[in-house]
Amino acid sequence: MKVLVEQDKCAANGLCAMEAPEEFPLDADGFVSVDGALELPTAQRDAVLRAAAACPERVISLVGPENPFPVSGPGGL
Ligand code: SF4
Repeated sequence: MKVLVEQDKCAANGLCAMEAPEEFPLDADGFVSVDGALELPTAQRDAVLRAAAACPERVISLVGPENPFPVSGPGGL
């Protein structure tokens, strides 16, 4: 499972770490400490989905065919 973390958009509210602390650890200032495209264990899929849904800044997204939050393009559905 591939996940994209756009660390520069993080607002340091810690909600992702409450859902998936091992996948989304926080730094000393409360910002998510991972960045970029990550390969995460499929066994953690539910926790990662909860973390992605909890993030108000949309920092975390699944990429590839497993993306449960497809975004329609201009003029899309
Ligand atoms: S939930 Fe989003 S904004 Fe909050 S710490 Fe995690 S990545 Fe950053």
